[in-house]
Amino acid sequence: MLIDTHAHLFYPDFINDLDEVIDRARGKNIGAIIVPATNLASCEQVVKLCEKYDIVYGAVGIHPHDTAEWDESYIVNIEEFAKERKIVAIGEIGLDYYYDFSPKDKQISAFRSQLDLAADINLPVIVHNRMSDDDTLEILSSYCGKGLKGHLHCYNAPLEHAIKYISMGYYISFTGNITFKKADDLRHILRSVSIDNLLLETDSPFMTPAPHRGKRNEPSNVMLVAEKIAEIKGMAMQEVIDRTSYNAFRLYGINGGEGGKYTYKLYDALYINITNRCNANCVFCSRKTDPSIKDYDLGLKKSEEPDSSVYINEIGDPAQYKEIVFCGYGEPTIRWDVVKEIAAYVKQEGGRTRLNTNGHGSYINKKNIASEMKGLIDEVSVSLNTISRSQYAELMGIDQEMFDVMIEFTKQVRDSGIEVTMTIVDLPEVDAEKAKKFTEEEMKVKFRVRSYF
Ligand code: SF4
Ligand SMILES: [Zn+2]
Ligand SMILES: [Zn+2]
Repeated sequence: MLIDTHAHLFYPDFINDLDEVIDRARGKNIGAIIVPATNLASCEQVVKLCEKYDIVYGAVGIHPHDTAEWDESYIVNIEEFAKERKIVAIGEIGLDYYYDFSPKDKQISAFRSQLDLAADINLPVIVHNRMSDDDTLEILSSYCGKGLKGHLHCYNAPLEHAIKYISMGYYISFTGNITFKKADDLRHILRSVSIDNLLLETDSPFMTPAPHRGKRNEPSNVMLVAEKIAEIKGMAMQEVIDRTSYNAFRLYGINGGEGGKYTYKLYDALYINITNRCNANCVFCSRKTDPSIKDYDLGLKKSEEPDSSVYINEIGDPAQYKEIVFCGYGEPTIRWDVVKEIAAYVKQEGGRTRLNTNGHGSYINKKNIASEMKGLIDEVSVSLNTISRSQYAELMGIDQEMFDVMIEFTKQVRDSGIEVTMTIVDLPEVDAEKAKKFTEEEMKVKFRVRSYF
């Protein structure tokens, strides 16, 4: 899924066919489009576009061209617009000394005030700079250390400046300009910066990439920009798409949809499919024969297991879910480091985490993983399955000693103050009453009967 981080879809150029433009974008696998406003009137239009199209997100602010009439009272309006749910940035703001549309001093005060606002309300900024390289860098540098995050769009300043911006945590992006014949300087910058600092954009309706130059630009053309980046950097196209989308998510918190290939939504929770591998082989588990739940195919070969960034990208804002659950047809603690990385992200972003496990994680990882859970995992669900050691071994296709491993792990988690539930599957041969009594009275944790997988 690609993300076009910059398209002015409120321009009159789109008045007759915006529905088709959006459809074409979807057809090219574009999962999100950020539409930056340029003045107060377009802030309102952007909010409406966000309501109308699920893939549209917005930024609100006053473009340097529109600052001739700048008035400090505009900040109140921008802040109001910024409270709308799908507004993800303050922009487009900045400096433009190429055109003489607004006096420099007006441009600078509007820029600074909007940067102050962004820092205050903790939104990233989308920055426009044309022939104002030194002032832009100086002003943005003065916000260093204030936690301001941002994006230099349609990058056209020197390489040394790009390096400074990147060191300040900013992202940069190129438009169709990267495909132009005379753009060797830009291609040199592109070659010199890491994909980890790049975003994709079109700047529609402007900056149409080759071979469509001269025509109106639109988000579906972001594919051509991505292709050029892949070619110049000698990377696979899919990697450019994945990495830039991840960057867009890191900066703007958007991921173009709920759930994805490696996560699945059940009720109001998001489940994370970490692995299909397991040290056990339960009689009731269809991990090997039919690893699906509802419409979700949870089949995952070891070679397909993604790293934490892919899961994080799919999760998006974890606070939109009741909880993020590590659970699939496999034992998640087999990839304990990945679980920890994802959990750290979820906790940092204000979400809640639950780990569903067979309780063998410390054995699998050859270390006490219960002691590493504090602050990362809010709740642990351990498969007790039965209280008979021999039945446990039979049901799970493992040694009886693993029962003791599971019990010891559960006690450690419980004693570290994490909420614990022990579960059994509702099989006729399992004595649910005894399991409940053992769990609640001896283990002193919660008990639940879970349905057959
Ligand atoms: S422990 Fe869980 S994932 Fe592993 S075989 Fe048993 S039910 Fe399946
Ligand atoms: Zn711009
Ligand atoms: Zn723009």
